[in-house]
Amino acid sequence: MPGNKESYWLFLEPFVHCVTAGDDVLIYNSVTHTVTEYKSSPGISSLCRDLDDPSKGFTVRISPGDENSEIRDFISGLRNSHSGDLIRAIGDTRPAVIRPRPVLVNYPPPEEFPGFNVGDYLKNIYFSLNASEIPAAHGYTWAMYQFPCFTYNERGYTELAPADVLKNYLPYDGIPGLTMDLTGADITLYSRLDELITHLKKLVSSVVFHIPFPCHDPEVIEQLIRLKNSRISFYITLPEGTSLLPGLIDNPWFRLKKSRIDFNFIIRSLEEYNNVAAILSETGLKRVFFLPYYDKENMEFFRENIFLSRDDIMGSKPGQRQVYSRQILNDQGFGKLYVMPSGEVFANMNEAPLGNIHNETITGLVKREIYTGKGWNLNRMQVSPCSGCLYRFLCPPVGNYERFMQRFNFCDIL
Ligand code: SF4
Repeated sequence: MPGNKESYWLFLEPFVHCVTAGDDVLIYNSVTHTVTEYKSSPGISSLCRDLDDPSKGFTVRISPGDENSEIRDFISGLRNSHSGDLIRAIGDTRPAVIRPRPVLVNYPPPEEFPGFNVGDYLKNIYFSLNASEIPAAHGYTWAMYQFPCFTYNERGYTELAPADVLKNYLPYDGIPGLTMDLTGADITLYSRLDELITHLKKLVSSVVFHIPFPCHDPEVIEQLIRLKNSRISFYITLPEGTSLLPGLIDNPWFRLKKSRIDFNFIIRSLEEYNNVAAILSETGLKRVFFLPYYDKENMEFFRENIFLSRDDIMGSKPGQRQVYSRQILNDQGFGKLYVMPSGEVFANMNEAPLGNIHNETITGLVKREIYTGKGWNLNRMQVSPCSGCLYRFLCPPVGNYERFMQRFNFCDIL
């Protein structure tokens, strides 16, 4: 601490984030990824609020010798971790300190922005080619709210016409980073698949086929993976899917194309996880993912195996950009649209529909989502109890499980 006859201005470095919740404080240095917490410290909490207050110039005057030992230790901690510093005060003039605010370039754009380009925002358009009142696998009725497969429609079997897919995708085909995702109850059942494939051969974009396994017609899969720019994402249910797996991966086409095939194993319990892990050790499969499925009866499985711990959150080490973007939007769901066989479009399947492709354009629907939607914009500042939690800037974005369960503290913290 400098000599005790003079006063100093205390400030935080621009890459340091200070979060307060009541009398608790968290300091996150997004360069060194270090976290320091101060619990039940009203003095430090008040000091941090002032350090983040633009009307106070993001500075607090410190007179060495006047502050208590708690504040003294806090200031030493900031200086030692290169998270903040002191500048000698000359008169009452505050030093110019700038603290970045969470602003994303051109987001949201002005409402009548002449250069509005849907390609700046869209990443995936999922078309559900079919939906069924009988889920492809029994017991997965709510899967489509958790991951993009097994489209369910309690009113019966329906299909989306190929023309509706093409008319709504072709204006955007070729936008860098945009992917067409084809999904449904089980697209190997889709009655107009041959017709659609003819058109898909002319696409510039990548196409991802989301297919439950087992599926109705495995013969179709070879046709799909032979398309240029295609990928396949299997959603494997237990126990049938794992027992049929050897037959799938023994195919000659599989050996040639396996780098473009993902295996998502749908698990509902630790026992299912262990069964899959044992099978995988014999297959040598790469590109394997586990998708927990919430069936409304297995909350304990989620609580014990999926919920975030403090160590998980600390280990995520978000960078400066992520900390800011998470205060404005949901970077997990951002840029995705889901088109149902009825034509209804969702930015997230757990939110109300945005509109319908039969009377609106994708561009119009994207604008509606950007300005008024919750699918792309829901962040932890908007949900309880996260909005009052010390870790709200560090936690991953609100996910589909949380939206579906309407439970946002997917953690053992609060
Ligand atoms: S309450 Fe919300 S913000 Fe806090 S740790 Fe849990 S999930 Fe993250």
